[in-house]
Amino acid sequence: MTFRLLVGLVTMMSVLGAWGESQWYKGATHLHSLWSDGNAAPEHIIQWYLDEGWDFVCPSDHNVLMEGERYVKIAEGGKLTEERVAALQKQFGEDWVTVREGTGGAKEMRLKTLAELRERFEEPGKFTLIQAEEMTTIGGNPHINALNLREPVAGLKNEGDKSALIQHYLDTLQAQSEKYQVPMIAHVNHINFADRITTEEMLGVKGLYFFEVYNGHPSVHSWGEADKGIPSHERHWDVILSMKLRRDPGYLLYGVATDDSHEYFKFGVGKSNAGRGWIMVRSEKLEANALVAAMQRGDFYGSTGVTLRDVRADGKSLGIAIAGEEGVKYTTQYIGTRKGFDTSTKPQLDAEGKPLPRSSLLYSEDIGAVLHETTDLESRYIFTGDELYVRARVVSDVLQDNPHETGDHEMAWVQPVLPK
Ligand SMILES: [Zn+2]
Ligand SMILES: [Zn+2]
Repeated sequence: MTFRLLVGLVTMMSVLGAWGESQWYKGATHLHSLWSDGNAAPEHIIQWYLDEGWDFVCPSDHNVLMEGERYVKIAEGGKLTEERVAALQKQFGEDWVTVREGTGGAKEMRLKTLAELRERFEEPGKFTLIQAEEMTTIGGNPHINALNLREPVAGLKNEGDKSALIQHYLDTLQAQSEKYQVPMIAHVNHINFADRITTEEMLGVKGLYFFEVYNGHPSVHSWGEADKGIPSHERHWDVILSMKLRRDPGYLLYGVATDDSHEYFKFGVGKSNAGRGWIMVRSEKLEANALVAAMQRGDFYGSTGVTLRDVRADGKSLGIAIAGEEGVKYTTQYIGTRKGFDTSTKPQLDAEGKPLPRSSLLYSEDIGAVLHETTDLESRYIFTGDELYVRARVVSDVLQDNPHETGDHEMAWVQPVLPK
């Protein structure tokens, strides 16, 4: 099909295609509090998300659930100071805050459990909390977020094969989901963080359905590090989809956008702040199981500022309608890989011809090709039938207020779909 004809079809379908009104819920699935290495009490953080317009929050501390009795020391220069305790008392009431004298005379504050936070913040149809944990390998990657889990999962030591480590966490959560008959999600976090995960290690995992296409932490390299042979998250995504779909025609990998926030008192570039990346989930109810089930259907998108009115996929086409803001230009790219693509690979080498440490292989440009690009607010890509998958991304010409890297634009990532 020629490009001209394709554009004609896209335009025609934009006129014919019926856009619907959908209920989208805004959520944060990756954030830290004083239960692990975040610097604020969970109620301070949840109140922030609630005030800023989030509908659901999944506090995900490292290798711990927010249950049982846990006290944190109050100390000047520490994460919990007298001043911050006083601020909590002012915001939530004197009775809300529990302070005791700990061993050695130091004062300590008790952390609120998820049950107490639910009691305080949840309101049917307005706001909900989902139990979560960042299953964290001790001393490096992988870190995997478990959403809607019921029992804590212990972190493993950073030893041996990374595919096996990921597999362990995914299998553990899958067994829990079957035991409790509750839908749960495991999303692989920040592939490019610390000792990182290679594309090939990701390809060695079974049952991998979610990963972070965007993580707002300033040291995770969402866009990759070309000089070190580290692909962007999106490049990992396209390679994994393409290589997996050759053998498993129904396979899909969905991308989430997250904050991975740790710092809640000072905001700015270089800080690990809340509000940079989120997901919008199309669900009939604002309730944990329904939201997780919607995500498992792929009925959500990731965002760092671009809002969509609608996403439509029917096996023959993928269409999106952007909730455009006045004076803002949006570029939508439909991205995919065609059947019979070039599957050759090359190692990424340093100046002396040695493979770069912990680098991923180089794959052909056939993978993740831009199939169509438009600046229309409403657009639709009609499948030619030879695509393995098609996904979309929208880039706004507006820069993010508080980016994880200077120069980040507001974006949205629409999940991949399969032609039928
Ligand atoms: Zn992490
Ligand atoms: Zn984290």
